[in-house]
Parts: sequence; structure tokens; C-alpha cells
Amino acid sequence: MLSLEEAQAEILARIQPARETETVSLDQAQGRFVAAELRALVDNPAFDNSAMDGYALNIADLSAHDFRLPLAGESSCGDVPDVLRSGTTMRIFTGAPLPDGADTVVIQEEVKAEDGEVAFPKSVQPDQNIRRHGEDFHQGDLLYAPGRKLTAYDLALISSAGISTIPVYKKARALVVATGDELVAPGASLKPGQIYESNRLATLLQLRQMNITAVDGGTLHDDPDALRALLKSNADFDFIITSGGVSVGDYDLVKQVFSEIGEINFWKVRIKPGKPVAFGRVGEYTHFFALPGNPVSSLVTFKLFVEPALIAWHHGTPQPLELQATAANGFRHRPGRTEFLRARLQTDKGRLMAAVLRGQGSHMLSPLRETNAFIRVDAESSGFDQGDAVVVIPLTLDTS
Ligand code: AMP
Ligand code: MG
Repeated sequence: MLSLEEAQAEILARIQPARETETVSLDQAQGRFVAAELRALVDNPAFDNSAMDGYALNIADLSAHDFRLPLAGESSCGDVPDVLRSGTTMRIFTGAPLPDGADTVVIQEEVKAEDGEVAFPKSVQPDQNIRRHGEDFHQGDLLYAPGRKLTAYDLALISSAGISTIPVYKKARALVVATGDELVAPGASLKPGQIYESNRLATLLQLRQMNITAVDGGTLHDDPDALRALLKSNADFDFIITSGGVSVGDYDLVKQVFSEIGEINFWKVRIKPGKPVAFGRVGEYTHFFALPGNPVSSLVTFKLFVEPALIAWHHGTPQPLELQATAANGFRHRPGRTEFLRARLQTDKGRLMAAVLRGQGSHMLSPLRETNAFIRVDAESSGFDQGDAVVVIPLTLDTS
């Protein structure tokens, strides 16, 4: 059985990354992965300009004129100002070009302006309140390399660099299927022995949050023929993600069908929950994940395996954030498998605290209400006490 790290490395080694790209406008590029080098088309700042509303002047003129200069002219945004005349000061606004001849800007709150004359303080320094041409980036600078995932912050930078469209990798297409004779959609009434389905929805929504084109393949009975037929008629997906039926029970047919029509790269990983998880490929380019049926196992294995696979598929580099927090309560662990505990992460007077939530059974959904992180307990650890340092994987940093 593979360790967590071995399974994750196996996935990264096996992924056949996206081969197709498309060009999108900036407002469509959030969350997409850049497919070519992005270089600045302009310098930023494009010209020397003022950082504040105030007065532009040449510092040598101050002592020569007893710190009082006549006001001559104005530089406002979008203007091309005149040259600053020697022995004068020019009104200037934030973002307006610095006139030739000026080497400093004094903010308006520090001067006294009366009758066409401005009185300056003695403390003026050269170069103050000036944003210099090119100090942020230059035309031709490499802003992004292929494989970078773009945020709104990135797109602000890209827009300011004059770039209007971006080549990105096409979004992965994923088919999501649940298996289980007992599963019923909410809304229908339950017969004895049946339960309401939840994994398929959670998987679809997590994929969509990652910008993946996720298609609902429905819920199948534990019937190998139905799964075979579904897989054969959906061979063009980049990912097929199933839930359930991957364990060792008599009705656990998913592994059997995948091994018939494709190749399984691994089955079972030394983690808890989520041990019965399989990864492999059908044909050249369709990757599959058979996630376990227990709802929490399905969420944990999505986070540990599916997320990095999707990032790598889009030519990105998975870099999951791990934080160190202080345990708000203790937990005893039986050595053997790397365990992931549902936890609540919060700050207490600036200190990051992680509480193990009650109800760690992989069938229990009500602790999900509070879950915003997993605590990772290493395979050989015997657990931790309240106050110990623990490793946490945040799921969101928004605790509202
Ligand atoms: P399995 O992996 O098929 O052996 O299922 C393990 C447990 O998870 C069983 O209790 C199933 O009823 C439950 N389960 C399987 N699939 C789902 C699903 N899609 N939604 C909620 N529970 C499920
Ligand atoms: Mg099942």
C-alpha cells in the first residue's frame, strides 16, 4: 500500500497535462492557468508623476527664494504640463506628470498658498512624493510564466501592463458519477435501506469552484454493465471521478471495471479516512479517480489527490498551504496511517488555534458545519495534547 506522499508523487508523474489552449479576455481569466509568457507592453509608471496632491518645485529654488515661490501653472491627470519655470512652483495632482525641471513635490497640507504665492516648510527633501518612471516594471519584463493560476490581483497587474487578452489552458472536463444501490436524490422519499446521496454534489461543486467544467453523470446502481457502458460512452473526458464501490465488498465493482477497461496506477493509500481510493487512466488521456463512498473520505481524498491532479493537468505546480497551529484539544492516534481530522481553525489573540471537532467518523456530516481545516496527524505519531503544535491544511481562510 502506498504512503500519502508516494500516491501524490505517482499522480504528478502520471498526469498527461492539457494540450489545448484558448485566448480569453481579462474578465474571463480569473482562476485560469496562463499558457504562454506574459510580458509587459509598457513601463509602469509610464512617466514620472506625483504621488500626492500638492506643489511641484525644484529644491534648489527654495533656499534661493526664502522658501516662498510664485505659483505658475498646473499639472493635472492626463495632461502634458509645461516645463517648470525656474524660481516658481506648479500646482500638481496625484498621478499627474511631474513637469520637467521639478525634482520634488510638497503635499498641499504642508504649505500656505496665498495671493499667487506658496510658502514651503524647511523640511522638504529632494525626490519626495514622486513615483519614478519604470520603478514598478518595464516594457518587456516577464510578468507570468506558463502554469501560473491567475487571481484578481494578477489581473490588475496584467491590465496595468497593457495586456488585453491572455492565452490560457483549456478548462479540464470532468465527469462525476456516484455508485450505490442505496443512493437516492433528496426530494424523493426513502425506502427502507436507502440513504440520500451527497458525494456527487460535493464533488461537482468543488470542481466548479476550481473552474473545471464538471458534468453530472448521475447515480449508478452497483452494476458493472452500467458503469462499463457509462465509461465507454464518455471516453472524451479529461477526468472521470466516481464515488463509492472501490472497497473490498462484493458490490465494490468500480475497481474491477476500471482495471478491465483501463489501467489502475494505485489502489489504497495509507491514510485515514480515505484508504480505498484508486487512481488510473482509461485510454491515453482520461484520468480517473475512484473515491471512497463515505462522505468524509470522499472530501479528504478530493483535497489530497484530485486537487493537485487538476492543478498539474493545467500545467500548474500544486503547492498546498500547510500551517502550524496550536492544538485547542488533544487527540490520540493509532500509528499506521496518516490521519486527517476535521478541525476548526481560528485565531485567539493572534495565535492560530486548531480544535479537533467532535464526531470524526467518516460517515458523519454534521461536523462539516464547523470544518474549515484538516489537522494532519503523521502516520507514526501517537497523537497530540492540548497546547502542542499541529500541522493544519486550511480549506478556507474566511471564518465568517
Ligand atoms: P462504498 O464505498 O460504496 O462501500 O460506500 C461506503 C459508505 O458510503 C456506505 O455507507 C455508503 O452508503 C456511503 N455512500 C456511498 N456513496 C455515497 C454517496 N454518493 N453519498 C453519500 N453516501 C455514500
Ligand atoms: Mg457502495
